[in-house]
Amino acid sequence: MIPILDLTQQYRSIKAEIDAAISGVLESGSFIMGAQVKAFEAEIASYLGVKHAIAMNSGTDALHLALRALGIGPGDEVITSPFTFVATTEAIGIVGATPVFADINPQTFNISPAGIERALTKRTKAIIPIHLYGLPADMPEIMKIADAARVAVVEDCAQSVGADINGVMTGKFGKIGCFSFFPSKNLGAYGDGGMACTDDAEAAERLRSLRIHGGAVKYHHDELGVNSRLDEIQAAVLRVKLRHLAGWTENRRRVARRYRDRFDAVGIASQADASGHVYHQYTVRLKNRDGARERLSAQGIQTMIYYPVPLHLQPVHSHMNLKHGAFPHSEQAADEVLSLPMYPELTTASQDEVIEKVVALSSPSPAAVA
Ligand SMILES: *Cc1c(COP(=O)(O)O)cnc(C)c1O
Repeated sequence: MIPILDLTQQYRSIKAEIDAAISGVLESGSFIMGAQVKAFEAEIASYLGVKHAIAMNSGTDALHLALRALGIGPGDEVITSPFTFVATTEAIGIVGATPVFADINPQTFNISPAGIERALTKRTKAIIPIHLYGLPADMPEIMKIADAARVAVVEDCAQSVGADINGVMTGKFGKIGCFSFFPSKNLGAYGDGGMACTDDAEAAERLRSLRIHGGAVKYHHDELGVNSRLDEIQAAVLRVKLRHLAGWTENRRRVARRYRDRFDAVGIASQADASGHVYHQYTVRLKNRDGARERLSAQGIQTMIYYPVPLHLQPVHSHMNLKHGAFPHSEQAADEVLSLPMYPELTTASQDEVIEKVVALSSPSPAAVA
């Protein structure tokens, strides 16, 4: 089988470094908020070109604590895309705010700036663009709209670590950038992990306090916080992996170029390209997507659908009373998208097998031609 992702190959390629890093933590006897977390925060802040990185337990926590840090709560509206993972709107709901959706651009699958403008109201307090599949959203345009309306931008960078627009990393455009280190992400821990980053000292201080029970000083609590720390073992793993991230991203881009060249040649639509795309996923559109996925699976090719149901049609948001047809581009994407095997270690031979089988699906069968 050709899997969509193979984390065991990656582990084998860095096994000596990982094993040493983990046993180093075990030997140190320090497991929470120690030297590894501190060093990781400094290293990733430098990599992203931001002033502050605050490591947390998950990307979901980073998103919801980012909204808390900005004082967003009941009565406030937060604009986001319905074509994303549920964690984005979960974060909005956890703080008691109301999600408001704006449809996607069908080429990029990212939130449409014009849609954001239409969704703005007096109650809008923040916008959460998602850099879906690793492709940066249209941040220059989104920041222009947000600045004019005086609303904060929180970037959902869960899929986009290392992605940039003209050298500026995703996570640095908005007030706060939120990252996930879930194992399958481009920079994945061996368990859960996440992080918020910001250039704003005040927001950084709030985030540091909120992640540890709402107080900067131990056993002194200014507000209701949570326990959302990244542990030392995961920080040590992430420090090793961060050193390899740029190389892995180059490999992902090489894989993506080969897919794109072949698919363009036969008229299979891929997500739009950009030089700063980090290809968390390589995603195509297929008209008979579900049938295609079944046939590929029978032929030993694993694929995934991110995401089969847009958020406005999910039961969790049924109280919003949004019907089919409300966000047609997101709905069509949910019906057509298919993500193909994509990881830095994918061999050309395996990739060519994937390409051949995907191309065969979409070309007319010999019977139809005859
Ligand atoms: C993975 C992901 C998250 C959540 O990250 P966790 O670390 O799993 O909590 C949020 N948003 C998007 C778009 C994601 O892909």
